[in-house]
Amino acid sequence: MKTLGDPRLTATWPERLRRALARQVDKLPWGAGRRSLWTALIALVLAVLVTLVWLAGRYEASQVQAELERDTADAVNDLRSSLSRQVQALQALQSGHFTPQTWQPEALGLLRGNRDWLRLEWRDKEWHLLSFADSPLRASAFERIARAETLNEANQACQRAKRFNGPAYSSTYFLPQNDGLGVEVMELCMPVTQAGELAGYMVVTYSLQELLTERLGSTFGRRNELSFIEPDGTRLAIAGAQRRERRVFTTQQLVDLPGNTLLLRMDGRRGEPDLFPNVLTALVTGMSIALITVMVLLAKDARRRLKAEHDLADALAFRKAMEDSLVTGLRARDLQGRITYVNPAFCQMVGWEADALMGQNAPMPYWPPEMVDEYQQRQAIRMAGNAPPREGFESVFMRQDGTRFPVLIIEAPLISVRGEQTGWMGAVIDISEQRRIEELSRASQERLQATARLATVGEMASLLSHELNQPLAAIASYANGSLNLLQDPQAVPQTLDDVHMALRRIAEQAERAGRVINSVHDFVRRRDQAREAVHPQALLDAITPLVNLQARKLQVRVVIRVDARLPLVWCDRTMVEQVLLNLARNGMQAMDTPSCRDRVLVLRVLRSTSPQDPAGIEFTVTDLGAGIVPEVAAQLFNPFFTTKAEGMGLGLSLCRTVVEQHGGQLGFEAHAPKGTVFRFTLPAAGHNATADTA
Ligand code: ADP
Repeated sequence: MKTLGDPRLTATWPERLRRALARQVDKLPWGAGRRSLWTALIALVLAVLVTLVWLAGRYEASQVQAELERDTADAVNDLRSSLSRQVQALQALQSGHFTPQTWQPEALGLLRGNRDWLRLEWRDKEWHLLSFADSPLRASAFERIARAETLNEANQACQRAKRFNGPAYSSTYFLPQNDGLGVEVMELCMPVTQAGELAGYMVVTYSLQELLTERLGSTFGRRNELSFIEPDGTRLAIAGAQRRERRVFTTQQLVDLPGNTLLLRMDGRRGEPDLFPNVLTALVTGMSIALITVMVLLAKDARRRLKAEHDLADALAFRKAMEDSLVTGLRARDLQGRITYVNPAFCQMVGWEADALMGQNAPMPYWPPEMVDEYQQRQAIRMAGNAPPREGFESVFMRQDGTRFPVLIIEAPLISVRGEQTGWMGAVIDISEQRRIEELSRASQERLQATARLATVGEMASLLSHELNQPLAAIASYANGSLNLLQDPQAVPQTLDDVHMALRRIAEQAERAGRVINSVHDFVRRRDQAREAVHPQALLDAITPLVNLQARKLQVRVVIRVDARLPLVWCDRTMVEQVLLNLARNGMQAMDTPSCRDRVLVLRVLRSTSPQDPAGIEFTVTDLGAGIVPEVAAQLFNPFFTTKAEGMGLGLSLCRTVVEQHGGQLGFEAHAPKGTVFRFTLPAAGHNATADTA
């Protein structure tokens, strides 16, 4: 039972959801905070993606670079072996015993075979030129500049060759040509030995350009640009493809030759398409695109959720405002009868806190102790599944301070979204004020009716005196006659009979006077309000003596017609009698004008012909008076409206209230050729009795 008092456990789910959401909504960094989180996330993801793409690119570049370096090393090896093969060819040439004349054709043969050789010279050991041959494949290289001017490098190479006793290469130098351009050349000096003695030198002038093209161009020149360069980067000779691609990979390697060292540079160019064929790069790029797409979708989803949260919070705030401003008390109970929800209006009504009511079951703290048994039975019936009347039922609740107050409860099954009944929802309206007003109006109604009745009585008193005159005069004359008879000394026994007769008349007249007085007395005294089944004839009989009193005074003929076999009327007898009396009196007064000759008042009772109340009984009061002019008709039923000097103007307004209280309607219409018909209906007893007990 302890848990029932705990509001956290007993609060209904919408209430819990509302509280939780309200907390979240208050805490949420709706604006800048959330946005900066998203910005940071996007920036991080972008950074990771860019790094991945960059790394993939770098990896690819390093692969290319490594490949290029392998190519360069291969090229250097190829070059070395080509040069050593040429040295061997030269050694073969020197081993034959040639004269300068026989040497030349051999030399030309070699020159033809080696396109990179510009000239081959044979010199003796004092370095005098014995013979030479220029390459037959091209114009002589020494046409522009005489050979004698370029011997310096060759000479130094031969000095070195002599020292090494083997081939030696000179440094490179520029040799201008006839066409205005020039070639970069290098000398190879090879000592010639005979019988172990130095006999001379073979000098080969190399074109570096041709050396590159011939020895490396076909193998490495297709994808790369090959060049010999100076240490400062100046290019001495270039060969191979010179494509203008965006990405250039460069590698350099030394070609170590005896006497000289060349620097071989290889530029590998790789174009745009090289970025994507790489599987890794393509994979990373694809994944990046997918990741960004997912992030965009997530962001959209988050925005939609945020909007939904906003809408939900708005809806809840609206619902709360609505609940708090309601004046009708709301109370929900589960199927076991425990309270699962109460709104502030309900709490205010009964004077208990919501927390104190939550989870409570019968007997509720707001039930008056004397009613607990009855209410418990009512709740048991309700829980057994019997729906309460749709229009609600009245009950009495008790405030915390013990005061009782009447309430109207409208209860309906509480149906969940899945269509199952989860309990009962009740709207509770405090009707104490309504009851107070009803009581006030009932009391004033009663006072008015009493006043009206007294007025009628006052009016009747004068009629009564007039009416009693006759029997009293008759009584007086009979009494005088009797006295005279009794004083007569010659009275004979017949006189006694006359006195008897006179006394009987006196008794009759006294009875008549008594009846008149009683009828008025009955009318004034009868106060019980209970409804009963009355025959229409009885209603008319009750008022006939009083109507007749006035009728005789005003010389009106009263005609009463009651249809045969009418059912009983279900009504408050006294009130209906007064209605009939008022209408009859008004009708008679309307005919009380000198111009009115035909003074007939017709009181009729028949079965109702009105379609609204076919089972009712209709009463009509018809006079042949002057009728009702429209100005009077407009305010006929207003209280205190009268056209008579001594009238109070309450008669018709009371008549209408009484008829309406009986569920009928009072109306009037002109009667042809003159006069007015007042008409009202009352329910028949059988019909109404059934309706009342239903
Ligand atoms: P009161 O009789 O005291 O004047 P009522 O409410 O009974 O008060 O009637 C209001 C007025 O309606 C009357 O003063 C009269 O002018 C008019 N009236 C009522 N009944 C008739 C009728 N049958 N014919 C003509 N006028 C009528």
